[in-house]
Amino acid sequence: MLKIAKYPEQILRQTAKPISDFNDDLKALADEMAEVMYKDDGIGLAAPQVSKSMRLIVVGTSRGKYRVYVNPEITFFSKDKGRSEEGCLSLPQIFGWVTRAKKIHVKYQDLEGNVYKEKLKGLESIVLQHELDHLNGILFIDRAEKISKGRELLDSLKAKLDEK
Ligand SMILES: [Zn+2]
Repeated sequence: MLKIAKYPEQILRQTAKPISDFNDDLKALADEMAEVMYKDDGIGLAAPQVSKSMRLIVVGTSRGKYRVYVNPEITFFSKDKGRSEEGCLSLPQIFGWVTRAKKIHVKYQDLEGNVYKEKLKGLESIVLQHELDHLNGILFIDRAEKISKGRELLDSLKAKLDEK
């Protein structure tokens, strides 16, 4: 089973590479990512979180059928913003308040390479923005106005990073 990369592992800070091969390996990876996500009670997972530098996201906001986004791009952010408490499988036990656009439009490909456009709002919009940040090496702690839980843990992880 795939292992989740934890902060401050370097892969989480890299810009993930675009996907051009829509092969069976890609489908298998998406399946395995979904499995890891559900096992750890996550609602989204980006490929860099399983140490793969690929622009691939799985979203499982509703149990059962997960959604796959290949090479996603956000083409519109609403001016209307909302604040919510976020966590991340790569930063266990750490939570923080993040402000994001309430509605987005996203352009992406499926596992066969077909292009789609979609409008997202609510939890799905937040999850997709969070996961797309992962593809660009950005973590929610970079955007959080306030760390609500796990402040000391985060400080000790950051100290570890400074020692390197
Ligand atoms: Zn995350």
